[in-house]
Amino acid sequence: MKKVISLLIIGLLFTGCSNDKKPEVTPVTTPEPTIEPTPVPLDHDTYDSLYVIANKTHPLSEDFEPTDLVVPDVLATRDGLELRQEAATALETMFEAAKADDITLRFGSGYRSYSTQQRLFNNYVAKDGEESANRYSARPGESEHQTGWAVDISDGSMNNWLKNSFKNTPEGQWLAENSYLYGFVLRYPEGKEDITGYIYEPWHFRYIGIDEALKIKESGLTLEEFYGYMN
Ligand SMILES: [Zn+2]
Repeated sequence: MKKVISLLIIGLLFTGCSNDKKPEVTPVTTPEPTIEPTPVPLDHDTYDSLYVIANKTHPLSEDFEPTDLVVPDVLATRDGLELRQEAATALETMFEAAKADDITLRFGSGYRSYSTQQRLFNNYVAKDGEESANRYSARPGESEHQTGWAVDISDGSMNNWLKNSFKNTPEGQWLAENSYLYGFVLRYPEGKEDITGYIYEPWHFRYIGIDEALKIKESGLTLEEFYGYMN
């Protein structure tokens, strides 16, 4: 019996040492798995979203009104013009930057309620007829101004207010070149009427945040094209 136990112990000892006799295995280095962040799709459908797209095929509801409207502290054509908080702050920064370049901008139009837009549109229809009015103005719900993210900007003198000639002014050119640095994109570019539904408006800018504005500016596309948000 003792002999058996001794053999067992010897056997166990050898078993315990058996690893030393195995040939060395070079460890295979497996690359760290790269975890790609799942991109969160931007929300273009919620009226309250920074990325909402409001146009003639995607109107806003009659009762939508942003809850964080404020009056930006900038030179304006009249008192009380409002924008959503984030856009208002960005506008202030942009106007200051323009000033540093000897460019005086003037805030001419911001948030417009559904009912205000209705009144405006009716006035334009009375003046120019519905077909014509629809090219340069918006039916209620179809105006980006109701989102609280859109601004109409003029030069300080207002000489080119809502005129095509604004694009040739130092102010219009400064905006076309620099607005995206502050999160604003030229919303209705020249030659894109079929896509945006609106004539070229060198004065109308849409706040969409600096990151997106940079990408959109680089792409040379409209919001509808850039986000594949057609019809
Ligand atoms: Zn506008």
